[in-house]
Amino acid sequence: MISVVLATRNRYKVEELSAMLSELPLKILSFHDFPDMPDVVEDGGTLEENAIKKASAVASFTGLPSLADDTGLEVEALDGAPGVRSARFAGEPPNWEENNRKLLSDLNGIVGSARAAAFRCVVALAVPGGGVRTVEGVTRGVILEAPRGEGGFGYDPLFLPEGHDLAYAEMRPDRKNAVSHRGKAIKAARGLVMALMGDG
Ligand code: IMP
Repeated sequence: MISVVLATRNRYKVEELSAMLSELPLKILSFHDFPDMPDVVEDGGTLEENAIKKASAVASFTGLPSLADDTGLEVEALDGAPGVRSARFAGEPPNWEENNRKLLSDLNGIVGSARAAAFRCVVALAVPGGGVRTVEGVTRGVILEAPRGEGGFGYDPLFLPEGHDLAYAEMRPDRKNAVSHRGKAIKAARGLVMALMGDG
């Protein structure tokens, strides 16, 4: 069976990605299996650059195919910010609560559909020796005026996906995975993983 390493130290991402990949005949490994996995500086100018950087670093460290995602929240009224800077929106060190507070404050006075936003997720699959491919998933929605729900992570309490009554943080994990940016990107990545299995 082919092994794939998830190139992230975010345990919520490991849970989501493992659940979404569970139907494929893959052995999913993560930082639990490689505690010394390199922590990559996410200084790329695009989500794609960061995802490629993370997946490639972990593929060369482990000698195994590695999968990374990089995600950005693009808010229309903020000209697409925080985008690739979503993790550090409120400064260093990255802090989810501070980021959410800043987002609410920056959108103060903006109401209804003017609070439109999209989560964009780029997934990269890298193989040792250099090959890397990327795919993307996008989910549109609006930024709520106050946090809702206890689940998920990051901006989940403030994001209401289009066509749904529940914020990401109010959804059961399988529901979030079915509608989320990461879920869509992983669906698109299945072709890459299948090709990898064909090669292996
Ligand atoms: P990164 O992909 O880990 O660099 O994520 C960038 C920022 O977006 C971080 O602050 C994450 O917490 C946040 N983020 C990434 N994915 C999600 C998600 O599925 N829901 C909410 N926030 C997310």
